[in-house]
Amino acid sequence: MGSAMKVVHVGEGDPVAVSPSPIAQTIDLLGDRLTVVILRDAFVDHVRRFSDWIERTGAPPAVLTSRLSALLDAGLMERRPRPGAYDRHDYLLTELGLATWEFLVSVWSWQREWSPEGLLQPEFVHEDCGHRGPPELACRACGRTVKARDAHLEVDPATLVLAARSRRRRSSRSTPDIGRADLQFSVVMEAIGDRWSALVTGLALSGVRRFGEFQSILKISPTTLTERLTRLTEGGVLCRADGGRDYVLTPRGRALFPIFAFQLAWTRRAHPEVPVEQLGPLLHHVECGQPLWPALRCRGCDAILERTSVVFEP
Ligand SMILES: [Zn+2]
Ligand SMILES: [Zn+2]
Repeated sequence: MGSAMKVVHVGEGDPVAVSPSPIAQTIDLLGDRLTVVILRDAFVDHVRRFSDWIERTGAPPAVLTSRLSALLDAGLMERRPRPGAYDRHDYLLTELGLATWEFLVSVWSWQREWSPEGLLQPEFVHEDCGHRGPPELACRACGRTVKARDAHLEVDPATLVLAARSRRRRSSRSTPDIGRADLQFSVVMEAIGDRWSALVTGLALSGVRRFGEFQSILKISPTTLTERLTRLTEGGVLCRADGGRDYVLTPRGRALFPIFAFQLAWTRRAHPEVPVEQLGPLLHHVECGQPLWPALRCRGCDAILERTSVVFEP
């Protein structure tokens, strides 16, 4: 992914050179509804043509072009000349693009279970055993099932500040209409679709509850923090506790944990050259003490799932 230093404006001060941290790059890329729909279509339905995505998503061509360019730049897709067609190209997933499959399955599973439009999502099937339905999260090191409470999140405040300060991206609320893709993944993107929301959700998953604690870790303005906490509360991800002083995750919010875990795991894969402590937050599995290397496990036959053994059926 692009690791070049970028000169950006931070607040009202002078321009400073900031290279977006790897996790910030992941949030920017994969925290976008249309991008997730593009990847899903490519992965599930083998869509590879610009015109097919236009037809399926209803996105304006310029918007689709910008998302495909970002996927090309980040190395998730490659463009190949279409055989026999002059000046036409297909967009194909690379190995790195295919490696988002566990993240996509987690987004799909959450959306299917926790959002009103869930039943529009295709059904997930483990071909080897025929089991239909969402898989569970497991630790590759010890094989146990992992819930949010079984993981410890190590946050280096310096990485978080870098994640949030470098190149600001639009928040999901100000995203222009992107057509029918708006109908999909809108709820989950409210929670993971911009850096601040994603970081607040990540900290809440690691057990942070107090306003002041969020603020001191994130070095965020009270106004911005209040706005994100309010949005996440309205979205049913957080709720107020202890007389309104604490923000705790709802069951719906806790269910975002696999998405968060696979975002971090994919980020590590996308940046093999970056030392692990500089990638962003680190997850450990408390029971085995190992860094959490997450996997998906079939609830039907208990096998760890491989990309080639799963299908989505409408
Ligand atoms: Zn473990
Ligand atoms: Zn199975």
